[in-house]
Amino acid sequence: MSSQTRTEKNKLSAWTIRVRGTVQGVGFRPNVFRLAKELGIKGHVLNDGEGVLIEAWCDEANLKKFVEAISEQSPKLAHIEKIETSALSGQWQTYGNGEPTDFVITLTEANPVTTNIPSDAATCPECLEDSFSPFSRRFRYPFTNCTNCGPRLSIIKSMPYDRVSTSMSSFKMCADCQKEYDDPCDRRFHAQPNACHACGPKAWIERADGHAVCLESMSQLDLVDAAATLIQRGEIVAVKGIGGFHLACDATNEDVVAKLRARKNRYGKPFALMARDLSIIEEYCQVSEKELEQLNSHVAPIVVLERKENGSADPPTAIAASVAPAQKTLGFMLPYTPLHHLMLKRMKKPIVLTSGNISHEPQCISNESAKSQLAQIADYFLLHDREIVNRLDDSVLRVVRNEPVYLRRARGAAPTPIPLPPGFENAPNLLAMGGELKNTFCLLQDSKAIISQHIGDLEDARTYADYQRNLELYKQSFQHCESGIVVDLHPEYLSSKLGRTRALDLELPLAEIQHHHAHIASCMADNNHSIDAGPVLGVALDGLGFGSDGTFWGGEFLLADYTSFERLGTFKPVALIGGHQAMYEPWRNTYAHIMAEMGWAAYKMNFEELELTTFFESKPLPAFASMLKSGVNVPLASSCGRLFDAVAAAIGICREHASYEGQAAIELEAIVNTDVLLNETEALGYPFAVPRLGGKGLPYIEPLAVWQALLGDLYLNTDAGIMAARFHKGLAKAIVHMVQKLCTRNEEIWLKTVALSGGVFQNKILQDLIVDKLTGLGFEVLTHHQVPANDGGLALGQAVIGAASHIQKNKERSHVSWHTWSNS
Ligand SMILES: [Zn+2]
Ligand SMILES: [Zn+2]
Repeated sequence: MSSQTRTEKNKLSAWTIRVRGTVQGVGFRPNVFRLAKELGIKGHVLNDGEGVLIEAWCDEANLKKFVEAISEQSPKLAHIEKIETSALSGQWQTYGNGEPTDFVITLTEANPVTTNIPSDAATCPECLEDSFSPFSRRFRYPFTNCTNCGPRLSIIKSMPYDRVSTSMSSFKMCADCQKEYDDPCDRRFHAQPNACHACGPKAWIERADGHAVCLESMSQLDLVDAAATLIQRGEIVAVKGIGGFHLACDATNEDVVAKLRARKNRYGKPFALMARDLSIIEEYCQVSEKELEQLNSHVAPIVVLERKENGSADPPTAIAASVAPAQKTLGFMLPYTPLHHLMLKRMKKPIVLTSGNISHEPQCISNESAKSQLAQIADYFLLHDREIVNRLDDSVLRVVRNEPVYLRRARGAAPTPIPLPPGFENAPNLLAMGGELKNTFCLLQDSKAIISQHIGDLEDARTYADYQRNLELYKQSFQHCESGIVVDLHPEYLSSKLGRTRALDLELPLAEIQHHHAHIASCMADNNHSIDAGPVLGVALDGLGFGSDGTFWGGEFLLADYTSFERLGTFKPVALIGGHQAMYEPWRNTYAHIMAEMGWAAYKMNFEELELTTFFESKPLPAFASMLKSGVNVPLASSCGRLFDAVAAAIGICREHASYEGQAAIELEAIVNTDVLLNETEALGYPFAVPRLGGKGLPYIEPLAVWQALLGDLYLNTDAGIMAARFHKGLAKAIVHMVQKLCTRNEEIWLKTVALSGGVFQNKILQDLIVDKLTGLGFEVLTHHQVPANDGGLALGQAVIGAASHIQKNKERSHVSWHTWSNS
């Protein structure tokens, strides 16, 4: 070796660069390859069990640039959690002690997996172009994808994420696709679902009645286009998508939308819509920049948008009334697979795209189950032969105070991990089982929270089976081995029962967490509130949760940190007549409130002429009165959700029957008269008092005067929108009053941070009023963003409480006790 080359060699550095996070299956290595070529870096990149590993040779300055570029120019779907660099030590064995002369992508054997499962992503602009360009070999191919887009979690059977462990394993790539797959410079390098017309999945149409489909009259193009013709003709088409079946129909055709509701046996709950492009959505809704960003994101969620006052109001383009009855908002999404894009290409009107199921059951995912379960609902089926392995509902979010807030975290968002706040670096691996309704579960691993997609209401047997299946898939995929299990305190939640059994079988420690404490901890973790940051005042408002005193809670003010809580205030406990049934018959709550506040005789004496009284008298009141007297099946609950139900039903909203939990409250919010809300004097807001239970117990929110004012307004035939506004204003004021009372001593705020959680806080009006007032008074207010305020966020709260109680074992006032089985 000449002395010249030796000098050059001395200037060369060699680094090991370790990248952790969601870095596999997202085009990370080709991107590193491209950057290395640009900067003249030599060496190699590979995937292993911990993420991506790079060994790089170059001068110091370029290596630094290289690391910067890796972090700044990462592929769209990658999520880097950490980049670690170190000098490459020892012999450079790979290259026989010499320096590499090129940069290569090294293929490796699978190791134990600690990298993340990627989430499904909306079609990228390049693939969209491929699908619509007549010069592309993927022209009008409904399953076009690349490393930047396409199905992921929905097709994964096990990890590591490789074609053989997905439902694409049954399709053998053609030579052209294989070439793309093998070429490190190609956008489809190692794109596991890579496919084309020649080798990939195919779509076809079937009639629900089994007769042959006559296509000539429908489309000159293809079957997906024919589906558009069917929808335009007023048919209901079941469409197999990426994470499940949808039912599609023309959203401007009242007859077909009403028919869909009747056949699906779903009343009340709004249907989601899909439109070809933004300009169509803007005919109906206001779309802010932030909302547009969300619609266009790779998550492609349903975004809840404000309706335009004077949007397309006239037929034939007005949205059918049955799409979102009694709502001021519409849930819109943009097409997120080539199949959807192709189907909507010719459509100038929005379509309904609602989950393909019968009320309360999970969305169908297989052709067989769809054909058997949806045959009575759909007229036609648009099917394909790529198996959906994991059911994924559409994610739903709303932009609140210019920030996206998840209402349902599913397709596109799950299972992207959420980093834990400071102080949780040494969190144990835990499994948190979640709640009963809107269930998700959570795996804690490497100080990250991996939250499952929205699974649903476990009361349904199929949903419960799905829950168990998903649990196993996640555990296997993430190679998760828990050292403890965390459940809700509720004795009857199926998730709690399963967790208890599992802990017993595996002889693992078990912790039972109070429902509202979990809500508040979830909100703290969602806001990256450090483990040492001290307690917050948690305001947890929801329907129902099991209280630590064995009664039902649902309107709680908790002094809380990650390991303990103290109940400082609550709502007035009122009977749930018939227990569970009170959730679905809002008027029962009105009756219970009236009985608790004034009794029937006093009510009737003052308000006999009300239409509400006539309604009550058509009901078996004597039976209810004796239930209340004897205390049988009338558990007390301090529930804010049920107070909303009671008020809504009194006003005449959703009085007789609610088809889902919280419907009355949602419809009450929708009718609020904004002018009254913003401009009417505060004094007309319905007045709550804040006395103490039994004179010296907990302070509680007492609605006696609200009922007097509200019934008085009913007597005066006051407009429902005005009453709804006055109720929201009064309630917000009362909650703020309670917070001030609990957090102030001698006119000084001693507790500055307030966390708002629980399903009631999906009410944007109430949340806005409270946040504005509290921030004005100098409080710091935490609200939800990444996980829902409803029970979908519960598992995260359970997990962090379980972890904190482990980390801070010796803390004096921890409320969490780990039950171990070894001695029992
Ligand atoms: Zn793509
Ligand atoms: Zn092919």
